[in-house]
Amino acid sequence: MASHIMLTSHNRGRSGRAPAVEWGATSARARGPLIASLGEPGLRNVIGTHAGAYSVYRALAVASGQLQRDHRPDLTDTAPAVAIGPHPQWSDPGAIVSLDPWGHRVAEEFAHLIAAGMDIRPTIAVTTAHINMPELQAAIAAGRLRADGTVLAANGDVRVTKAAIDPVWYLPGIAERFGIRETALRRALFEQTAGMFPELVTRPDLKVFLPPIGGMTLYFFGDVAKLGRPETKVACRVHDECNGSDVFGSDICTCRPYLAHGIEVCVEMAQQGGVGLVVYNRKEGRALGEVTKFLVYNARKRQRGGDRAETYFERTECVAGVQDMRFQQLMPDVFHWLGIRRIDRWASMSNMKHGALAAAGIEVVERVAIPDALIPPDARVEMDAKVAAGYFSVEAPPAEAELALAKGRGLHE
Ligand SMILES: [Zn+2]
Repeated sequence: MASHIMLTSHNRGRSGRAPAVEWGATSARARGPLIASLGEPGLRNVIGTHAGAYSVYRALAVASGQLQRDHRPDLTDTAPAVAIGPHPQWSDPGAIVSLDPWGHRVAEEFAHLIAAGMDIRPTIAVTTAHINMPELQAAIAAGRLRADGTVLAANGDVRVTKAAIDPVWYLPGIAERFGIRETALRRALFEQTAGMFPELVTRPDLKVFLPPIGGMTLYFFGDVAKLGRPETKVACRVHDECNGSDVFGSDICTCRPYLAHGIEVCVEMAQQGGVGLVVYNRKEGRALGEVTKFLVYNARKRQRGGDRAETYFERTECVAGVQDMRFQQLMPDVFHWLGIRRIDRWASMSNMKHGALAAAGIEVVERVAIPDALIPPDARVEMDAKVAAGYFSVEAPPAEAELALAKGRGLHE
């Protein structure tokens, strides 16, 4: 351990050594490396540290003597499995404000600086995989999907490329996206994390923040190299994490059915020569967290009159104070990163996600609703409430009397 605790809250005149950051510059070198290294405080040019919330586990590993505090990753052979970009949107400082467009290429772009001893780390990694879900096998059996041996194998295996993205926030751009002052944003971030990052309020010269939150995972179907070309047709599902349904098959909501349906639409598009994309955001329970979510489930099922659509959003607001904290304003960034200007098939019913794409200048050609047969019975409450609130549907919104009917199971059923 070092003998002194190094405070990061003031720069002590060392900022001249830290590389400048010019967000939205036309090349990685012109933009400059983002340095979140803890070992060399004088070189740091961002607020926060790598790996989001996992930095706390890193602290435990260091505190318990299992990890050297100055360990540096060996990036040999870790380069992206396929190339992504650069795309013209990367040099528009307002287009991408919540991730580092060069984040997967730092080992290559800044090889000279890393060789010279700077601790510069990727915030994006790109690899390949095979995935398989029972729903895909069912889609083959039902004749909706056919195996082609390339995208989709007869046993249901799907070949994908996948990318993991840690959030990187350019604070002036985030503030602009929300229509608030940067100082107000910084103060709220400082106060709501109980003062976790003092530089938010003491170092206005540092404009980039690595927030301790979950990031996103992208699953690509088809040839990623085709993205960014105007002729490439794209199918997409933007999915916000729901552990209960996505992983465990809980039937109170439509999350996993929607995810599986989205993947089906993506596989189809890849088989037709286009590219399918699933964006999986770590925003559990509308970014309210799973504890809040389970409290809301109890409140919904225990309320007088039972679990019904007319009080669906109200019950969430009683517990959380808001209905939703996912903030779709930042969601379109990933499409700018991939050079996507048009989505031909959009597997989502969310009016908020659709509106965010429109505001970002990304055209949606066709909105694909989930087939009714894929909605579990206990999830009718959620579906009715969402359609009544303006979510996209091919059917007319349910009438008031319909919304007042208890459709969800009781707490102990
Ligand atoms: Zn869900």
